Amino acid sequence: MVATNWVTERDKNGCFWPTEAMKKKANVSDPKIYEKAAKDPEKFWAEKAKEGIEWSEPFKTVYEWKPPHYKWFLGGKINASYNCLDRHVKAGKGKKAAIIWVPEPANEKAITITYEELLEKVQKFANALKGLGVKKGDRVGIYLPMIPEVQVAMLACARLGAIHSVCFSAFSGESLKARLLDSTARVLVTSDGYYRRGAPINLKNNADIAVEGTSVTSVVVVKRAGIEVSMKPGKDYWFHELMDKASKECKPEPVDSEHMLFTLYTSGTTGKPKGIVHETGGYMTQAYWSCKWTFDLHDDDIFWCTADVGWVTGHTYNCYGPLSVGATMLFFEGAPDFPDKDRWWQVVAENKVTVFYTAPTAIRMFALWGDQYPKKHNLESIRLLGTVGEPIDEEAWMWYFKTIGGGRCPIVDTWWQTETGALLISELPGIGPFIPTVAGRPFPGVTAEIVDDQCKAVGKGEGGFLILKTPFPPAMLRTIYNDDEKYVSTYFTEYGPKIYFTGDGARWFDDKNIRVTGRVDDVMKVAGHRLSTGEVENAVASHPKVSECAVVPRPHEIKNEVPIAFVVLKGAVASDALKAELMDHVKKQIGPTAKPEEIYFVSELPKTRSGKIMRRMLKSLLTNKPLGDTTTLQNPHAVDHLKQATGYKG
Ligand code: ATP
Ligand code: MG
Repeated sequence: MVATNWVTERDKNGCFWPTEAMKKKANVSDPKIYEKAAKDPEKFWAEKAKEGIEWSEPFKTVYEWKPPHYKWFLGGKINASYNCLDRHVKAGKGKKAAIIWVPEPANEKAITITYEELLEKVQKFANALKGLGVKKGDRVGIYLPMIPEVQVAMLACARLGAIHSVCFSAFSGESLKARLLDSTARVLVTSDGYYRRGAPINLKNNADIAVEGTSVTSVVVVKRAGIEVSMKPGKDYWFHELMDKASKECKPEPVDSEHMLFTLYTSGTTGKPKGIVHETGGYMTQAYWSCKWTFDLHDDDIFWCTADVGWVTGHTYNCYGPLSVGATMLFFEGAPDFPDKDRWWQVVAENKVTVFYTAPTAIRMFALWGDQYPKKHNLESIRLLGTVGEPIDEEAWMWYFKTIGGGRCPIVDTWWQTETGALLISELPGIGPFIPTVAGRPFPGVTAEIVDDQCKAVGKGEGGFLILKTPFPPAMLRTIYNDDEKYVSTYFTEYGPKIYFTGDGARWFDDKNIRVTGRVDDVMKVAGHRLSTGEVENAVASHPKVSECAVVPRPHEIKNEVPIAFVVLKGAVASDALKAELMDHVKKQIGPTAKPEEIYFVSELPKTRSGKIMRRMLKSLLTNKPLGDTTTLQNPHAVDHLKQATGYKG
């Protein structure tokens, strides 16, 4: 059988378009949707909230705006777990797979959890939490690996109107403690441990360190890795024992639309992580519609989002989004290179994944490992690819497109933030176009613009700062937990209380589509020219010997700033000749101002645990400044090598 082509050949403007087959399949393929939504975004979102979400009581006020604060769907009552579970079971989809869980150890079989089963587990665990004294409005910490108990715990909180705060399982006990103290959590849900590359890793020890001296009165422990752990009587409880005793029925608690659903910390790429606050009704509305339209989820799709549930991507696209649309999602416990570097592709092939969503950092890693790994497996089930987290360079985009998508599948490059709750800028697969390095159009009903430092809109082809305008999309953050001042100073000071400042730089590709070029602090002023580090990186990365790179500015007496490149090579040997070749390559691609003043060949770039390059650290290295908060660094060992390479004297 010949696999369907979902995209056309690339046109002379560099765009791919959906084929007739894609347009026919897609949940939305009429571009008029953009104009319709833009005419009256409040009306658009109100319609979508009613159409996609079941409300226990209808809302009366669509949007309330008291700059810099806003609220959505006031008067409405809703329960997020009901929307993810009960309504699908009521509609006769109880036997449908909600989660296909693939464990890491190869000798363990994948487990399918149906909507009916998931609902039962969630009700039981909600009752167990109740038994530990958890009430509506209470905070619950979740520190779990990629096992289905994490969705059970999140949805059980939502069922009671309790607020979850998930902490990435690879964070230390100290990081977890800071989050528990900030949220004053009553209960922590964790596990004995988990598997990472074949080895069981203890999590409970970290949890013990973390809860010491916090408000946590009970710790629930999932038995996953069979690790011997100490259990304090009266404080520590086994998950399975609580579940065995819990009754099967727990009514969902309808909460106000503006009731807090969760708090979650940002990645910490630009500084200390911020505790972002998300509410229920608006968040669920966008979680639903982004899955329907951008990931184009249908009844027969198998959606795999590789993000850890400790990030917002994991919240929205490994839990609330796919479940709210009643889709089947794949959830994988393991690492991409265990037992070998083809594991992800084996998982795709074995489970016939149709929609696959990952990050540029992973794509670049796979490209570096080589085509032989994906080539071992039949990836023809895939029909749509997605990326998120960082700007993607053309090299990586094309590799993803050709090697994983077989040149047949659109790529939706989704721009968003922990703060936005759901993706905001991306092409829609039934409408297109799909353009390497271009995220695309603001989702219908979203007003994003690119402005200069005076907040004046810039023209076609020009670059500036990415901002959002009212009505702020329903899923956006409402504040920073315990720190409304920080909310105001971070997002609503640069351009005043009526404009949301994203902190990202962007450029119009044409009059509709946006290329996100990177952080605003990553814009360089070289001899009077504004250059984004992302654009220079794109040029460096297009050289065949480069695997990945980061470009940051260094102060310069005459030119104000100059670009400095940190380059990881694809196995090539570093030399002065190669340095000169790369400098010349950038000069040819962009122009002489973009030519890096210096190139450092390094073995690794400093990355956050969410996989993003920490450019602020490279900048500090170059200017001998303190390195700042490094607790969210994934590879602290890379730092010494970088210090040496740059002659850091901080
Ligand atoms: P912190 O706010 O603590 O510095 P962070 O911004 O990395 O951390 P996240 O909310 O996880 O935390 O990441 C959002 C950021 O990721 C965006 O502001 C943007 O810079 C980048 N980003 C996400 N998706 C894309 C994309 N598709 N294209 C370009 N950049 C993206
Ligand atoms: Mg951020």
